[in-house]
Amino acid sequence: MEIPRDSRVYVAGHRGLVGSALVRKLEGEGFSNVLTATRDELDLRDQSEVSHWFKANRPEYVFLVAGTVGGIMANSTRPAEFIYDNMMIHGTVVHAAHEYDTSKLLYLGSSCIYPRAAEQPISEDELLTGPLEPTNEWYAVAKIAGIKLCQAYRRQYGRDFISAMPTNLYGPGDNFDLVSSHVLPALMRKFHDSIGEPDPEVVVWGTGSPLREFLHVDDLADACLFLMEHYSADEHINVGTGVDLSIRELAEKIRDVVNPDARLTFDKTKPDGTPRKVLDVSKLNDLGWSPSYDLDAGVRSTYDWFLASLAAHD
Ligand code: GDP
Repeated sequence: MEIPRDSRVYVAGHRGLVGSALVRKLEGEGFSNVLTATRDELDLRDQSEVSHWFKANRPEYVFLVAGTVGGIMANSTRPAEFIYDNMMIHGTVVHAAHEYDTSKLLYLGSSCIYPRAAEQPISEDELLTGPLEPTNEWYAVAKIAGIKLCQAYRRQYGRDFISAMPTNLYGPGDNFDLVSSHVLPALMRKFHDSIGEPDPEVVVWGTGSPLREFLHVDDLADACLFLMEHYSADEHINVGTGVDLSIRELAEKIRDVVNPDARLTFDKTKPDGTPRKVLDVSKLNDLGWSPSYDLDAGVRSTYDWFLASLAAHD
């Protein structure tokens, strides 16, 4: 069902990688009533603040894409923030959407919800079939609770709350900080910083052999709107490309775009994380959605964005 373009649509987490892409997408599609609130205006971990905001603004559609996020190091060194912030944010927003009669809510999870030893490519029914990857279990447990929250409100109150599970994301608006970021922006920054050095060398964490899948955030935003308009079911749904590559191959790809002179070395004292993470996206493909970016073009345009953002901060 097409959502009327004048509906009140709340993007929770609009300053993040996903939220900013969603706002761009919604505005590009002609949505004239996109609601946002900054962290200073609204602490999403606080139920009374969130309920009050919902009472005042009555969003009809909610994209719940807010959360405390980060790469392998951030996840394993800040476990309390990852589990507490995320559990609270999911709880307050889902509950307020129920209290104030939101027509539909899309909750965004993550592919790290699946067991470390899940069968690859990972289909939706692998959820809760085995132990999680220890480097991100705090985040994963909170994200699994979010899926269950949506299902619970669906079952008990008949709410149209759905969940989408994206694979590793990248794109404009990403976090390029070397400690807390994910692999793609981290490597991009490292290659960029090596430009002009006499013997440029980039250190890649781990062995380079883990396999990962990467989805451009503009494709994810497109998929989120598609699901909001076309999907209504209890079960979460995967969003990805279904194609993976090794961290070494990714590093070589980024090197070729950013600094072809750089040499790669591997720091095996850093964690590899889960050996392979690629989603089975047949359910979403069967509904008629598939991504449009290829990784080479996506890496190039993300690097252009990164350069422009550096120039803007100079
Ligand atoms: P994950 O998919 O949850 O493991 O999250 P990441 O994107 O943080 O890491 C993916 C893989 O890339 C892991 O095997 C990391 O060890 C590896 N990797 C290599 N270099 C880096 C780096 O500079 N930063 C990060 N975050 N990961 C890196």
